[in-house]
Amino acid sequence: SGSQTLIDLLREGLAERGIHTADVRSTGCHGFCEQGPTVIIEPDKTFYTKVKAEDISEIIEKDIIRDEKVERLLYEDPVSGKLAANFETVNLFAKQKRIILDNCGKIDPEEISHYLAKDGYKGLAKAIQTMSPDEVVEEVKKSGLRGRGGAGFPTGLKWSLCRQSEGTKKYVICNADEGDPGAFMDRGVLEGDPHAVIEGMLIGAYAIGADEGYIYCRAEYPLAIDRLKTAIAQAEENGLLGNNILNSGFNFKLKIKAGAGAFVCGEETALIVSIEGKRGMPTVRPPYPAVKGLWGKPTNINNVETWANVPYILRNGTDWYTQFGTEKSKGTKIFALTGKVNNTGLVEVPMGITLRDIIFDIGGGIKDGNQFKAVQIGGPSGGCLPEEMLDIEVDYDNLTAAGAMVGSGGLVILDNTTCMVDIARFFLSFTQKESCGKCTPCREGTKRLLEILVRITKGEGQAEDLNTLENLAKVIKRTSLCGLGQTAPNPLLATLRYFRHEYEAHIFEKR
Ligand code: SF4
Repeated sequence: SGSQTLIDLLREGLAERGIHTADVRSTGCHGFCEQGPTVIIEPDKTFYTKVKAEDISEIIEKDIIRDEKVERLLYEDPVSGKLAANFETVNLFAKQKRIILDNCGKIDPEEISHYLAKDGYKGLAKAIQTMSPDEVVEEVKKSGLRGRGGAGFPTGLKWSLCRQSEGTKKYVICNADEGDPGAFMDRGVLEGDPHAVIEGMLIGAYAIGADEGYIYCRAEYPLAIDRLKTAIAQAEENGLLGNNILNSGFNFKLKIKAGAGAFVCGEETALIVSIEGKRGMPTVRPPYPAVKGLWGKPTNINNVETWANVPYILRNGTDWYTQFGTEKSKGTKIFALTGKVNNTGLVEVPMGITLRDIIFDIGGGIKDGNQFKAVQIGGPSGGCLPEEMLDIEVDYDNLTAAGAMVGSGGLVILDNTTCMVDIARFFLSFTQKESCGKCTPCREGTKRLLEILVRITKGEGQAEDLNTLENLAKVIKRTSLCGLGQTAPNPLLATLRYFRHEYEAHIFEKR
């Protein structure tokens, strides 16, 4: 977006005016990346969107020199143009509960001193200096944290299974292979606050008894990988990674493995064999990674957002953490809000918020004056929910019961101009292409589903197609080897459940 030019111009502009009390810092994304390049002036928090080179003088004169005579030409209209407003009053931010994203857009992710100044690594210090590994596991269990990468498995329980596994060599892995269409939550955290993920992994490794870890990050995220490399080097220099961390006797080394772009490598067993240098294909479970994982050793895998929650739980305690969320889904969740909504970007909200609040309060409603039609949640494994489901409280169990899932957190808003059969076809063509081909139900079944969907959208559907789709989808779900196949039919089944009339219109009215 040309941000580097703006940074250079701001620096030059300050130098030319002899201003040495203001500094220019680049940060990770605040979440409103669609409106970029953005500039925030601290401490006033004046927030600028869509900044161009010609705006720089006004920003310096008006907000840094505070020259009252300068007329503000930038105006408040985030939909049609540029915005100059207080950051905290912009709807996209004001209605969020930002814990994991709090540092994103505030600190320089390439400076460990910034993270330390925000109480970074205090959770680690508390864990390894004042608690036993079992106490740390118990603390995470009590917090109610559930895996943010998909199905919502309780994190503390997962850790305890790996801790109890026999063997002295154990691994922890961060799954940063974020591949869902419309999802960029992990990218935002890794680029904006990489130390939080590293600190979470260190705490987890101490609790589980692991001395080595990997961050498996998709190669399509080069900036995230660069920032992780910088963060790892800085943590090592500061005695926070390596041997005898904080003089506690705890040793941990961390490596990065860049994935080559296969969606299925987000599945934990495929991810493990990919790190081992083999073709990334899922393996049969059991044995589960907690018993036999990387190089045959007990291994615990959590995703980026799950690891980034851990430092806050240790630092602030479970009483603090459990005040957010619902009875069975504690804390917050980051969603990537995209599609036909006015404000798109990363939003962090407490579990239990309604979809209506996210879409209409935070997202500012539907674009171009159109009507809301559906929200696609959870990416290619999730489902589409209609207007009448907008008041359900967002948590793992409610969304699963409604035929969708929290998934990794993609939230794509669809308006009345969208064809729901096309949406099902889009997600299915994605999963069909990404199917690794190891098991027949997924390899052959998704292909057959897609053929029927394509036929229907061409106006060549048959009366019996809907029953065939439903039956085949259920077989694929029940019999596929891994999560990719087991969830691939979800967008199809959810659209059939809530928008069957659109399929019927394609078939019987031959649109
Ligand atoms: Fe591969 Fe699909 Fe079978 Fe998973 S379900 S192992 S992705 S063919």
